[in-house]
Amino acid sequence: MKIENAQFRVDGGIHPVYNKHLAKDNAIQAMPLPSLLRVSMSQHLGAPAKPVVAKGDTVLRGQIIGEPAGFISAAVHAPTSGTVKAIVQAPTATGQSVAAVEIEPDCEDKWRDDIKGNPNWESLEVKELIDLVSDAGVAGMGGAGFPTHVKLSPPPNKTIDTLIINGAECEPYLTADNRLMIEQAENIWTGCRIIMKILGAQTVRVAIEDNKPEAIEAMEMAMASTEGNVAIVKLKTEYPQGAEKQQIFAITGKEVPSAGLPMDVGAVVENVGTTLAVWDAVVNGKPLTERVTSVTGTPVSKPGNIRNRIGTSYGDLIEFCGGTEGDTAKIISGGPMMGFAQSSLEVTTTKTTSGLLLLPPKLVTNYSSTPCISCGRCVDGCPMYLMPCELSQMIEAEDYSAAREINLMDCIECGCCAFQCPAHRPLVQHMRQGKGQVMIMMREEKEKEAEKTKD
Ligand code: SF4
Ligand code: SF4
Repeated sequence: MKIENAQFRVDGGIHPVYNKHLAKDNAIQAMPLPSLLRVSMSQHLGAPAKPVVAKGDTVLRGQIIGEPAGFISAAVHAPTSGTVKAIVQAPTATGQSVAAVEIEPDCEDKWRDDIKGNPNWESLEVKELIDLVSDAGVAGMGGAGFPTHVKLSPPPNKTIDTLIINGAECEPYLTADNRLMIEQAENIWTGCRIIMKILGAQTVRVAIEDNKPEAIEAMEMAMASTEGNVAIVKLKTEYPQGAEKQQIFAITGKEVPSAGLPMDVGAVVENVGTTLAVWDAVVNGKPLTERVTSVTGTPVSKPGNIRNRIGTSYGDLIEFCGGTEGDTAKIISGGPMMGFAQSSLEVTTTKTTSGLLLLPPKLVTNYSSTPCISCGRCVDGCPMYLMPCELSQMIEAEDYSAAREINLMDCIECGCCAFQCPAHRPLVQHMRQGKGQVMIMMREEKEKEAEKTKD
């Protein structure tokens, strides 16, 4: 095992104020069960799960309450034992209204009877390991939440030689992954070995930004006796070093093609939280029912990294952190760069809720945007080599085909362009809107194609 520096540097990127000091030294705290959990059926990218319980049912922790609705979907499990109070339509962090199962905990927190661990996981076949990950409903916990069993099942024509465990946590303020590496390095490393076996990857790189020396030290100790092509890669602290494509380039020098996937260059990237959930699913046989969320920002009385049951309301999380001191001007689910502004504290945590950030009035300036002055700063800052200024103007003019032509769909919504823009143009909102419209166009094209084949 060795420690090395990233060999390649991605163009673009920014250096925001990180403010990780607010929560980075606070050990993970387990939050007691709230009086109600509202578990959304939309926990990740892809189709929401289908509720399979009804009002009045009693459930045990780990029991399936939402079945996957298609290949790109993952099961949803009861986060504790109790009674189903209702199936409701509830808002998600991205503003959609989706079915959710409300559970009133019985405070016994009793697991399903058939939970069985696999301490000798090394003797299991690859298919058995993937089934355990799938049955546990594991989904990417670093952001988009792609169902993990799908990511771990590349088509037979794609060979994966490199597994990257993503511990960059480059978003300002967020510190949950940092704490997981410090406190559970051994288990993360076992999760990584399980994924190596599933993918047959020979090269493993654990990527951590150099502003997390304790996490690097903890992972180094956990990996010390491992032989083979295994290394910790120290990444320069720079946003967005945690983005998949940027991280693959920084470590391997390989560029994921436009509209391509990491597997196109023989790589798979898994977040440290996801890797830990794989360990829990396989070694302990436990479905994913909780996660660690950074609750932070200066208005939070006691910022921290809180282990909470999936379905905990943002209001309950803030209350557990001692409530607020002073005014809060903005609440963001996730980090300040890629997160979503919230208008209600009734929204509940999901498998992807990495952070809950409260910002005071002095950090929230409501500038009105002015016309583009063609300064080019957004182009310099874009790590995907896009032309955000042009894309934004095309989207404003509703010329989505033109935006698609100049690779709008490659935008990773990192926010570097908007961060740099002196005209305060709402560039990320434009990209999100444009991408949504292009997705609709693509779906319609597919349907037309299918119709033609039928004829
Ligand atoms: S949000 Fe999109 S366009 Fe803007 S910098 Fe990031 S990748 Fe580039
Ligand atoms: S940074 Fe803003 S003002 Fe400058 S070119 Fe880009 S969109 Fe225009």
